Amino acid sequence: MTDIDRRGLLMAAGALPLAGMATAATAATPAAQGQPLIGDPHLPEVRKARWAIVGLGTFAVGEMIPGFVASSRAEMTAFVSGNPQKAHDLGARYGVTRFYDYQSFDRIKDDPTIDCVYIALPVALHAEYAIRALKAGKHVLCEKPMASTVAECEAMIAAAKAANRQLGIAYRIHFEPVNNDAVRRLRAGEIGKLRYFSGDAGFSANPSWPPHKWRLQKALAGGGSMYDIGIYALNAALWCVDEAPVSVTAVYSTPAGDPRFTEVEGGVEWRLRFPSGISAAGSSSYCYSFVSHQRMFGSDGNIALEPAMDYTNINMTIQRDQGPMTIRPGVPGTQFSAQIDAFSQAALTNTPHLTSGEMGLRDIKLIQAIYASADGDGQMVKV
Ligand code: NDP
Repeated sequence: MTDIDRRGLLMAAGALPLAGMATAATAATPAAQGQPLIGDPHLPEVRKARWAIVGLGTFAVGEMIPGFVASSRAEMTAFVSGNPQKAHDLGARYGVTRFYDYQSFDRIKDDPTIDCVYIALPVALHAEYAIRALKAGKHVLCEKPMASTVAECEAMIAAAKAANRQLGIAYRIHFEPVNNDAVRRLRAGEIGKLRYFSGDAGFSANPSWPPHKWRLQKALAGGGSMYDIGIYALNAALWCVDEAPVSVTAVYSTPAGDPRFTEVEGGVEWRLRFPSGISAAGSSSYCYSFVSHQRMFGSDGNIALEPAMDYTNINMTIQRDQGPMTIRPGVPGTQFSAQIDAFSQAALTNTPHLTSGEMGLRDIKLIQAIYASADGDGQMVKV
């Protein structure tokens, strides 16, 4: 091999500087300069979904409206309220300039600044306002529980189909990072095979506080503690077990003679049985002080979430042979904006939302079965 051949091989292997590199310091440095857009680079949709908020109550104002402010895919354009003073005050605070009341609500049909409607009314009003919004051609995110009756839930789903619009139920926990991490660990087998789920959810209802007052009236609430708060543990059980249950048993645990509970149950203890042999059980109450607790019992360990469904404070503990481990893998408060962003994306692309109307209907059917079993003092109800 000549010296020239050897030099060529070394240059190809990068062992020697390429010709001209030695003089690069003296060459002109290229300047950055703008270029035309070439072809269709499939840039993601950047428009924000525009929302009307229906019902400016405790939860909407305290949690969801700040969630809209923190979201990246949504903006609030309209408030719908029976209290114009409150609506205008909040409008001034949040830059919202369009206002409707419950009578003028159908006029949102002609308002091109509204894509989506978020419904945060007492439960018995969910179906009416969801259907009116869908008929007006808007997508609807409706608070949990979906509606008072199975027939109302079915009518909401039918209205969404007829309008070719998305209907979602606001199960915020599906967008909460700690709960998601717990389910991810369960699915990854970190506690072996799931053998049992338990979940308790409740608070002490105050009959003189307006947001609790309607919760104790069947005509506005649809049901009792199981509708309002027990639904979290029920929904979580179904998320974790990931099977459709075959039967339900339940008993009421309403304190005898408690004057708060003439129309709805104060408490209920329930159990679902699944085809694989697993069971899930829980309690729901308006009579014990605030509890939100879930535990997944696996063959090799267990995962506990306590509290499991707070707005800002959710705690996960994993217990295995080597001892307990406490984890906070995310900021629970982001669940509101994450949910709003996810529904905004579903609406803008007209694709189904993760927590759909069908999920809301499934849960109302199961709660009705829980009530049927409890009415029969624990008789088994097939579902
Ligand atoms: P509030 O009583 O605080 O708010 C309800 C609002 O609905 C009222 O402020 C009022 O708004 C409007 N409204 C219209 N008609 C009536 C009526 N006849 N009686 C009472 N209010 C009426 O309740 P919440 O904010 O606690 O609950 C609202 C919804 O949000 C419910 O569906 C509930 O289940 C759900 N929720 C969800 C939570 C979650 O974590 N996902 C947590 C808490 C509640 P206006 O004055 O503007 O007309």
